Amino acid sequence: MGLAALPIHAYEAQILETVSQNAVSVLIGETGSGKTTQLSQMLHRAGYTSTGRIGVTQPRRVAAVSVARRVAFEMGGQVGEDVGYSIRFEDRTSARTAIKYLTDGCLLRECLYDPELHQYSVIILDEAHERSLNTDVLFGLLRRLVGKRKPELKIVVTSATLDGEKMSDFFFKCPIIRVPGKLFPVQIFYSKERPVSYLEASVQTALDIHVREPPGDILLFMTGQDEIEKTLLKLEEEVRNLEEGSCMDVVILPLYGSLPPEMQARVFGKPPDDCRRIIVATNIAETSLTVDGVVYVIDPGLVKQRQYNPASGVDSLAVVPISRVQAIQRAGRAGRTRPGRCYRLYPEAAYEHELLAATVPEIQRSSLAGTVLHLKSLELPDINILDFDFLDPPSIESLEDALSQLYIVDALDKTGSITALGKKMAELPLEPALARALMAAEELGCLDQALTVAAMLSCENIFYQAPRQGKEKKRPREEGNLPDGRGLGDHIQYLQIYDAWEKHDFDLKWCEENGLQKRSMKLARDVRRQLSQVMKKKKDGEPEPRESRSRQILGSARALRQALCKGFGNRIAHRLPRHNGYRCIGHKSQLVQIHPSSCSLEADEEGLLPEWVLYHELISTTHPFIRHVCAVEGSWVEPFLTKIDNIDIRSLSGRKASAKQSADAKELPTEKTGSLQVGESASAA
Ligand code: ADP
Ligand code: MG
Repeated sequence: MGLAALPIHAYEAQILETVSQNAVSVLIGETGSGKTTQLSQMLHRAGYTSTGRIGVTQPRRVAAVSVARRVAFEMGGQVGEDVGYSIRFEDRTSARTAIKYLTDGCLLRECLYDPELHQYSVIILDEAHERSLNTDVLFGLLRRLVGKRKPELKIVVTSATLDGEKMSDFFFKCPIIRVPGKLFPVQIFYSKERPVSYLEASVQTALDIHVREPPGDILLFMTGQDEIEKTLLKLEEEVRNLEEGSCMDVVILPLYGSLPPEMQARVFGKPPDDCRRIIVATNIAETSLTVDGVVYVIDPGLVKQRQYNPASGVDSLAVVPISRVQAIQRAGRAGRTRPGRCYRLYPEAAYEHELLAATVPEIQRSSLAGTVLHLKSLELPDINILDFDFLDPPSIESLEDALSQLYIVDALDKTGSITALGKKMAELPLEPALARALMAAEELGCLDQALTVAAMLSCENIFYQAPRQGKEKKRPREEGNLPDGRGLGDHIQYLQIYDAWEKHDFDLKWCEENGLQKRSMKLARDVRRQLSQVMKKKKDGEPEPRESRSRQILGSARALRQALCKGFGNRIAHRLPRHNGYRCIGHKSQLVQIHPSSCSLEADEEGLLPEWVLYHELISTTHPFIRHVCAVEGSWVEPFLTKIDNIDIRSLSGRKASAKQSADAKELPTEKTGSLQVGESASAA
């Protein structure tokens, strides 16, 4: 196919030799050296797919899809044939698929059904440097598999940073193969001080480069879709103001995870001749997607990062400084085709003294409820969750927070053992709260509605957000003729919207006319279909239900709200007396406001909102806000209040036994048993 040789090709013999001699190998190579697209093909050519598949994990969905397409193309086929991908809610593989790109979350899910992962002869844990939550958990699980499936399973861990020793140590000091990148030198420029507006400064720097510097594409790192859109508008405006013919043509392209695939393809396609591209990207261009032709990098030194605080239960999505490792990665993007330049919009002293050496792994800044439920459901015979082999362990506090959350929604009993209900929850490709809500909805006879709500909540950005012109921020959901949630909140509104769409025969034009994102709505429909199938499968033995339709809003959708409440027992807020602020219940007791994007809740004569609400997300942006809110009743909340009051965290975490004996938490003696309501969880299952 005339594909250019990549640095990794020179190491093919060494790689194959090392992999054949060792159960685990670590491969370190600069971004763009060919780890993601070439390693799988090498192992395929060497015959590893005769006994099983090669699975390659990716932390990001968009990378799994884009890379599978690329490799299918390189091998002269279509996605779904020899090369396929599998991401949550979308499986594009077939019986003949030999190389399967999948998200780390998908592989984790596969462990539930086949803990020894027999379909694979090779597992490549790719982009390990990203240290995503799921990849970190896979590290621990695969480490346990090494002995069991020796010698037929090969594991290769790949990383773009030099931190291979730690990974090698974790995997019994396995060998490290280093593929030296052929990076050209990159000259680094620092700003004298931090700019007042990094957006303005980035735009200005991009224009300066465009006007003064020789041809070569510009890659500008921004923190998120919103910022990217603003930057695009600003750049376009400035470019229009340039004197005609004063410099070469320019195209300005966005690149972020939720960008439609056709738009992404423009970044990977061949650029037009005599034209400079300015690519405004999120962190996704730092290591997971390689954009060719970049000569100039603009690095404002910031990234948008989620940080969960187990003490308050607040998730914050904050713009924080990148780490030095990230800064180096970003600069490296400029030197892949020829010597490049990187403009860091922060002072050298900040680089030296303020940036962290490495990024804090996601496992240390995420809520672990889903992860702990998953590990519990694997019922690993010999370990307590607090002793699981983590490359970097999360804090005890955060593990305990996860255990209590799971206990409150009946997934664990008071000794921390998984309940039958918990096992069913773990099988659903949803976070524990939504999974629990679906189980409850089934009992309460409102599964169809709950499926719709869960599907809608699984799709970000249902509402179309027009790029903002000026300051005014329009709220699209108030413009069209969209239903209002009956004053009961967002979940009910989502249900009504989906229903209305269904009544319009899933017409995409209808979505457009009503300010809804077509892509998200289509996704919601797919997700709903899949969830409905999973739920059906779980009820095997029972007669096949009719093709389920969601169109049945009854009264105030009371049963639905009650079912949701079962799942969100640890995400409930109580209105303050005579005041429309809320306080979250439980030890967290965080004061919050309802997020302005929420649809309106019905107020009483005094203008007071419902006394109790459940929320999907507690997020701190400018203030702590609860988002996706739904009114619930006090009597539904009461059992949770009792349960929360009586949590015995020692018993839940099985900490009373010594580490070695703690495996069988069921047999632990417990204090305070009388006050715990575990009967409920056992019988609900
Ligand atoms: P690594 O995983 O080591 O960072 P990759 O295997 O992702 O490297 O990329 C190797 C080369 O393949 C790069 O030059 C990259 O530009 C090219 N490449 C990867 N994906 C695509 C794609 N979708 N379209 C075109 N080229 C691609
Ligand atoms: Mg890669």
